[in-house]
Amino acid sequence: MHAEKTNGDTKVSLSSPDVTGHDVETLNEIYSSTSPIDVLRVAVDDLYKGQIALVSSFGAESAILLHMAAQIDTHIPVIFVDTGKLFPETIAYRDKLARQFGLTNIQTIQPDENLLQNKDPNGNLWETDTDGCCHIRKVLPFDKALAPYVAEISGRKRFQNDIRANLGFFEQTDRSIKVNPLINWSPTELADYVIKHDLPRHPLVAKGYPSIGCAPCTSPVAEGEDTRAGRWRGADKTECGIHFVDGKPVRMGG
Ligand code: SF4
Repeated sequence: MHAEKTNGDTKVSLSSPDVTGHDVETLNEIYSSTSPIDVLRVAVDDLYKGQIALVSSFGAESAILLHMAAQIDTHIPVIFVDTGKLFPETIAYRDKLARQFGLTNIQTIQPDENLLQNKDPNGNLWETDTDGCCHIRKVLPFDKALAPYVAEISGRKRFQNDIRANLGFFEQTDRSIKVNPLINWSPTELADYVIKHDLPRHPLVAKGYPSIGCAPCTSPVAEGEDTRAGRWRGADKTECGIHFVDGKPVRMGG
């Protein structure tokens, strides 16, 4: 790993032992002023080449990261968990983006059938136990799908909520290295990227859904509300599962 990446006037050497050793603090320092697509390129082409997957919900802002990834490698593994409770519009949007961006390695993962039979035979666990439902329909399928990879790419943004406020480009979790190329971007920067590249919008955005998860747990958001206010509305829940960062339990995005 001896390549160099140019970031404006700054040349970043990728031969540092700290880089190859996945020290996230060092990585965050080195790449602090790097653009999202260059962070993604470094992660995909150098740091974790062949050992990284992109996690996508094919939600409201997913097109941005998928569009960037497709410019780097159209065969990058894209992990998409179909919980069995998604909006049909999300499935159609997945297919549309795959066609338009030329993505050839979208892996649609479903929950374990036996587990569903045992824990959620009537498909209504979400009514009484959202954490339990997310665990069998999202967290376990993700854990299984991501097990072969040392790193995963996430579309999380710092502005989305307090839990994400301290995240950097690189993050060590109990499972892997998480790469968050869009972490610094504001809603305006995201919107500008969509316009500049004329990216297709998720059809539910125009109907008042700025954040889109499973149909039973997502509602439209009113003017002035947090963009994720429609997720698990009325419940004390903002993310879909629990993982550990620096030994502390944190919820993972969904
Ligand atoms: S978001 Fe709702 S329906 Fe989807 S897995 Fe979680 S609790 Fe179940």
